[in-house]
Amino acid sequence: MGENNVRTECRRCGECCLKGGPALHKKDLKLLQGNYISRESLITIRRGEPVFFLEKSRPEWTENEIIKLKGGQGEWSCIFYDRDRSSCSIYQHRPLECVLLKCWDTEDLEAVAGKSLLSRSDIIAVDEPVVRFINRHEEECGLEILKQLNFRQPGKINNSTLTELTELVNIDLALRSEAVMHLNLSLDLEIFYFGTPLFKILARFALIPKEVNGKIIMLHA
Ligand code: SF4
Repeated sequence: MGENNVRTECRRCGECCLKGGPALHKKDLKLLQGNYISRESLITIRRGEPVFFLEKSRPEWTENEIIKLKGGQGEWSCIFYDRDRSSCSIYQHRPLECVLLKCWDTEDLEAVAGKSLLSRSDIIAVDEPVVRFINRHEEECGLEILKQLNFRQPGKINNSTLTELTELVNIDLALRSEAVMHLNLSLDLEIFYFGTPLFKILARFALIPKEVNGKIIMLHA
């Protein structure tokens, strides 16, 4: 590549925004407090959920909770990316990672990646009614079991693990529907408060849900 082709500024190709929304940091809390970003535009990645990290080629299990801007409808692209204008609809109030990201030089972004991340407890006041549901969800439906699963051999899950996963999937769904019913939550808020439903996470391990007599059982795909 000749010297003239070396990128040194944003060409607004949108590629970074199309790959997904950023993780939020403590410094981004003011964007929620200022109503530039709503809870409905967030997704919680719970501790123990498998995710791709910037610098890793394979998914890893998160050690800490991550709050991200979620994708647009059924897409990876950030919910705030305006495809028609090839621009960010909250540009003046975009999160820290977006400010730091230079696709031609990721040093600044790497310096903050995974550090001082925002979590649900930074955003939700302890006396909000949803907190007791979130606490129960964490206690009764933790994701530690996912560490036993292998991405490279997604079909190799033994029967006792499959039974345990099936129980957790049903607990996860029951707690969500109880909270939705009591608090009249939208689907967007449910995803922020409780993260991705476990049965959807398990699809990444080639497991599929099947409804039998009102309960879900997990099966190999
Ligand atoms: S907030 Fe804006 S700059 Fe950041 S990923 Fe979304 S669309 Fe792109």
